[in-house]
Amino acid sequence: MPEVHAKLSASGAKRWMACPPSVALEAEFPNESSVYAEEGTHAHALAELILRYNNGEMTKRKFNSDLKKLQADPLWSQEMQTYIEQYAHDVWELVNEAKAACKDAQVLFEQRLDFSAWVEEGFGTGDVVIIADGTVHVIDLKFGKGVGVSAVNNPQLRLYGLGALDTYGLLYDIDKIKMTIIQPRLEHTDTEELTVDELVKWAEEEVKPRAELAYAGEGEYCSGDHCRFCKAKGVCRARAEENLKLAQYDFREPPMLTPPEIADILGKVDELKKWVEDVANYALDAAVRKGIAFPGWKVVEGRSNRKYKDEVEVVKCLVEHGYEEKSLYNTKLKSLTDITKLIGSSNVDGFLAPYIIKPQGAPTLAPESDKRPVFQSAEAAKQDFSDDLLD
Ligand code: SF4
Repeated sequence: MPEVHAKLSASGAKRWMACPPSVALEAEFPNESSVYAEEGTHAHALAELILRYNNGEMTKRKFNSDLKKLQADPLWSQEMQTYIEQYAHDVWELVNEAKAACKDAQVLFEQRLDFSAWVEEGFGTGDVVIIADGTVHVIDLKFGKGVGVSAVNNPQLRLYGLGALDTYGLLYDIDKIKMTIIQPRLEHTDTEELTVDELVKWAEEEVKPRAELAYAGEGEYCSGDHCRFCKAKGVCRARAEENLKLAQYDFREPPMLTPPEIADILGKVDELKKWVEDVANYALDAAVRKGIAFPGWKVVEGRSNRKYKDEVEVVKCLVEHGYEEKSLYNTKLKSLTDITKLIGSSNVDGFLAPYIIKPQGAPTLAPESDKRPVFQSAEAAKQDFSDDLLD
């Protein structure tokens, strides 16, 4: 995705407009992809293929061959295809509407939208751009299924709109910009419509000055909702200070909190919980992957539950020990907890023990006083063992 390389990306605009120096701070962190991002990229590739085929841009043969390649990827699923077909159907309704209003309607896919007139080096990719009847309509596919994303006052979409205006404004007479989000997994569609003047005013007054600060690594840190997507969220001092301010409470008489005071504290709980969780995740990741030490803390092996090594062997063993096969099942083989209730823990630790394993627990941070030894990953243990053999 070309947008990944833009220093001030459209997708990060909500964050860098609210907190311009976050761009410089984020540069200290590596770019890491997630399985959700890769799934989203694959869904976009599938959508582009279906839409281009619908638009008569390729033969059936080429479509089938490209589709087969996408379907061979482990990221593909039938569920993904069904959602993307629904998205393509929704896009096509918008294309048909535009064509009904204007027979020369232009439909473009995966267009580079350059908004560098307002944001230095800024560009993004418009999934679908429809130009018809004095309107440029940018459509953005969101494959996430967390929450429905609003198109209203959405800086990412508005920057795409600006890019489309800048790219096609010279070729076509445009007076309106429409920006639509389609989120097929939530059956969510939302649109914002602005005049060219409204969009350009927003760009000049709100985007440009903030983008200049962000590009130069200047401006004031400002924490808020937008921190959720910041790479520095677990270690940022400004966010920590803001949350610690939230946590301080000005206790006064009487000795017990009053209902309005409790209500006030409750209003801060969600933000505080998110911050504490981000700090803990950052610390665990830094300790495990980079070996960073946090005084008074160590990495230990977390809890793990015993499980069957091989269910078929477990059933065979229990039947050999006189248990009726049907007593071992609910709809599937009973859990180890239920089997323990049935045969007793001494039998589980006795004749069933060879068929049970205890996987290594995930690493977790614990105070130095914790009795568990410092965590050693299975890989590290293997390496130590072979080093011992060589000594
Ligand atoms: S965590 Fe929040 S306050 Fe800190 S740099 Fe990132 S966006 Fe700004």
